Amino acid sequence: MRNRVFKRAAILASLVSWAFFLASTSSAQGARPFGLPFAEPPGLSTWFVSQWYGNSVTAYWNQRVLYAGGQGLHFGIDFAARCGTVVRAIGEGVVVAIDGPYGAGPHNLVLAHPNGYRSLYGHLLERPPLEIGQRFDRGDPVGLVGAPVGSTCDQAPHLHLEIRDVTMRRAYNPVHLIEADWRGLTLGLSLPGQRFVLWYGDPTLWRTPWDQPEIDFGGVARNAWQDVWAP
Ligand SMILES: [Zn+2]
Repeated sequence: MRNRVFKRAAILASLVSWAFFLASTSSAQGARPFGLPFAEPPGLSTWFVSQWYGNSVTAYWNQRVLYAGGQGLHFGIDFAARCGTVVRAIGEGVVVAIDGPYGAGPHNLVLAHPNGYRSLYGHLLERPPLEIGQRFDRGDPVGLVGAPVGSTCDQAPHLHLEIRDVTMRRAYNPVHLIEADWRGLTLGLSLPGQRFVLWYGDPTLWRTPWDQPEIDFGGVARNAWQDVWAP
């Protein structure tokens, strides 16, 4: 009798978890049009999110230098990965810029997508051997992970990924546009780029990966704050 009850409870539990799984994947697919830029699963030896979009601790401390063009905020998501890791198109699209004037050197690539967004892949290892106008499906290889200018492949190599509007003047938070289980992608490391600055002026402002603001390139700095707690 006890066994039968356990068995029924186990079947019920698995049905409920499947229902939740199906509900979460179908709603996510409807809401978020893009995929992750890697084929491999996340992990310490493959890739993970090393810096969120927005007012990360790293962005706050570098707001006047690295991020001055984007209102002092980090205008993309950084994915830590070895140099040479293959970068994949986050959605179907067409190449509109190779090594364009969008920063994130030494090499960058911009794809235009039919839904009006543009994706920018930065800190690429080499100039992608592609043509302007070349078409891509989601998941096709478009480049290789490299390291930022002034850095090397054994010093925090990563992909810097941005999603902008058609004018390239506005950046959006990729967590709302890329289908992923973002919660697990920092691997619990608690790096400065994975945490956010608390401002005593409004301690509720921009506290999570999900509530960061859209960014206008060339706009005024938004985080020139004095009284902060940057853990
Ligand atoms: Zn970055």
